[in-house]
Amino acid sequence: MLIDSFKRKVDYLRISVTDRCNLRCIYCVPPPGMEEMTCRDILSYEELLRIARIAVGRGVTKIRITGGEPLVRKGILNFLSELSKLEGLKDLSLTTNGVFLRDFAKGLVSAGVRRINISLDTLVPDKYERITGGDHIYRVLEGIEEAERAGMNPVKINMVVIKGLNDEEIVDFAMLTKKKPYHIRFIEYMPFEAKEGWKRERFLSTRDIMKEITRFQRLIPVDQEDERTGPARLYRFEDGVGVLGFISPVSEHFCSSCNRLRLTADGKLRTCLFSDEEIDLKEMMRRGCSDKELEALLFTAVRKKPEGHRINEPSFKKCSRGMNLIGG
Ligand code: SAM
Repeated sequence: MLIDSFKRKVDYLRISVTDRCNLRCIYCVPPPGMEEMTCRDILSYEELLRIARIAVGRGVTKIRITGGEPLVRKGILNFLSELSKLEGLKDLSLTTNGVFLRDFAKGLVSAGVRRINISLDTLVPDKYERITGGDHIYRVLEGIEEAERAGMNPVKINMVVIKGLNDEEIVDFAMLTKKKPYHIRFIEYMPFEAKEGWKRERFLSTRDIMKEITRFQRLIPVDQEDERTGPARLYRFEDGVGVLGFISPVSEHFCSSCNRLRLTADGKLRTCLFSDEEIDLKEMMRRGCSDKELEALLFTAVRKKPEGHRINEPSFKKCSRGMNLIGG
């Protein structure tokens, strides 16, 4: 089993399948001058499956596929279908901006993806365009409905809350849980390199976000038996059908229970979202390493997993990669 030096069991792998995205979200897209990966840089599906198979063989039970935008990579459904056949894998999920979801939802379910996270930071068309650079909000909303119709459960909608950008929509997003069984998750804005650099004055903590919602209506804590809820703290409205989730990577980090590994599209294994320490699996694989050697690298990476991130310490430096390159 993959157990790190702080006795945390590492059973969750997030795989980024591409750095490419069909949106240019201002807080995520890399600053000008940052190079894109070439096709050769990106791991093939065979390479990704090989790593996943070894990780699952060593106790990884949950895999999330992300990017860039995972639905822009050709052959993604076939890859997911192969992945879902791995014996020992209990949970396969995907994070998407939802632009292509309407057309992919049924195929995703058939490929074994039962859970999906859709990123949506505003419900206002003009603002959506300002944030993402695309005018696709109606496609995303249709995609969300289609995911629900296709039987995905739960459908989670992730909103990154940024002061002065979308914070006046917090209650509007919360209200969605009154009509729909969605999980609406409010995520704290994290410090990454991006076109629009992170500034503390644009940051809103979970506490601020909850305060805004409870001014409107009381929140009732939800029993959190299901470990698939991850680090979100869950609540609901008394008359709601959906769930509100709060994720606080900055203000109340969940490092002590972090069970994650991340594989970047170019084959680097990262054991902490905020640490630039990486282990290059691609290089080893392309040099012809054996499965045993690859497995040993996984163990080495896990052993080096840091105890926690240092966002709130003066010495903290933003990661050299943006979220699109790490895989959010
Ligand atoms: N394209 C997919 C999507 O939009 O969900 C997957 C990749 S995207 C990098 C994954 C998630 O990272 C999105 O929910 C996005 O909002 C989030 N993200 C990117 N930059 C962030 C930041 N600085 N702080 C918080 N979340 C961020």
